[in-house]
Amino acid sequence: MGRSSKDKRDVYYRLAKEEGWRARSAFKLLQINEDYSLFNGVNKVVDLCAAPGSWSQVLAKKLIEEKEKPDNVKIVAVDLQAMAPIPGVIQIQGDITKKSTAQKIISHFEGDYADLVVCDGAPDVTGLHDIDEYIQAQLLLAALNITTHCLKKGGNFVAKIFRGKDVTLLYSQLKIFFPLVSIFKPRSSRNSSIEAFVVCQNYCPPEGMYHHQYDHQYGQLYKCYIPNMSNPLLDHQYDVDFNNLEGPNRIIVPFLACGDLSGFDSDRTYPLELEPGKEYVYHPPTQSPIHPPYEEACKLRKSDQLSKPSDGGHLRDIGAANDDR
Ligand code: SAM
Repeated sequence: MGRSSKDKRDVYYRLAKEEGWRARSAFKLLQINEDYSLFNGVNKVVDLCAAPGSWSQVLAKKLIEEKEKPDNVKIVAVDLQAMAPIPGVIQIQGDITKKSTAQKIISHFEGDYADLVVCDGAPDVTGLHDIDEYIQAQLLLAALNITTHCLKKGGNFVAKIFRGKDVTLLYSQLKIFFPLVSIFKPRSSRNSSIEAFVVCQNYCPPEGMYHHQYDHQYGQLYKCYIPNMSNPLLDHQYDVDFNNLEGPNRIIVPFLACGDLSGFDSDRTYPLELEPGKEYVYHPPTQSPIHPPYEEACKLRKSDQLSKPSDGGHLRDIGAANDDR
C-alpha cells in the first residue's frame, strides 16, 4: 500500500501538533537555544519572516510566560503574510527588503535597540538549487541590513542559511559585523535539506566609517557605521551614493575584463566578411548534433505532415507549436 502524505510527516511535525506550536520550526529555535542560551538576559527581540508564528510563540514563552516578572519585554514579528495574533507579540506585515519595514520596526523600540534578531526567512523554493540559494542569500542580507538598524552593540543575530557552494561569501559579509559566526544544524532540520542556521554573536559594527554619533553611555562623539538598506539587488530605491561610500562601507572587489578592445564584441553583429578583401569560407561544425530534437519535425515537414490533424483530429505533437519556424 502506498504511503499517504500524512505518513511521511516526521516526529517534529507530530510533536508540534501535540504541543501547540504553529509549525515544526519551533523546535529549531528551541534547539539552537539549548546550545547557545540565546535568551539569557534578553528582553527585546525582532523575529523576521515570522509567519505562521512558531518562533514568535517560542519567544513569547521564553521571555514572557516562563519569567516570573517579565520586565520591559518587546517582541516584534515581521512577515509578508498576515499571521494570527500571539499575546505579547507586536506584528508588522511587511517586506524585510524594504527600508520602510526597518523604520516600522525601529519605531516600536522608541529609541532603544533589540538584544536579539532572529530570521527564519525562506523564499518559495523553485527546486533550482542555484536560484534558491541566491534568493535565500539575498533574504539573509536583507535581514542583516535590518539588523544593523535595530540591534544593540553586543547583541546576537540568528538566521536561516542555505549552505550552498558560495556560502563562504556570506560568512565573510557576516564577519564584518560579528566577531563570532558559527553554523548550526538543529536535529529538527532535515538532513536532506541544505538549510542550517548561522549564529552571529556580539554585534560589533565596523569602526572607521564616518559618521559622528553621540555616545550617551560615554558622553562623547564617536565615528560609527551608518546602517543602510542599500542592497542593490533588492531595493532599487537606493538611499546611498555608492560612489561616495568610505571606510568599511566601501567594499571593492577586483574586476577583470578579459580581452582588449581590438577583439570582437560578443554583443555586436558582424558582416560575414570579417577581414576586408578576404572572402568568407563556410566551415562545417566539428561535431554535428546527434539525434537533435528537431530531427523528427524536419522529417514531418518534408512529408508535409507537420501540424496536420492526425487521428482524433489532434495535431501531431512534434513541432505543432513551432509550425511557423
Ligand atoms: N519562523 C516561522 C515560524 O516559526 O512559524 C516560519 C517562517 S517560514 C519558513 C518563512 C517565512 O518567510 C514565510 O512566512 C514568508 O512569508 C517569509 N518571507 C519570505 N520572504 C520575505 C520577505 N521578503 N519579507 C518578509 N517575510 C518574508
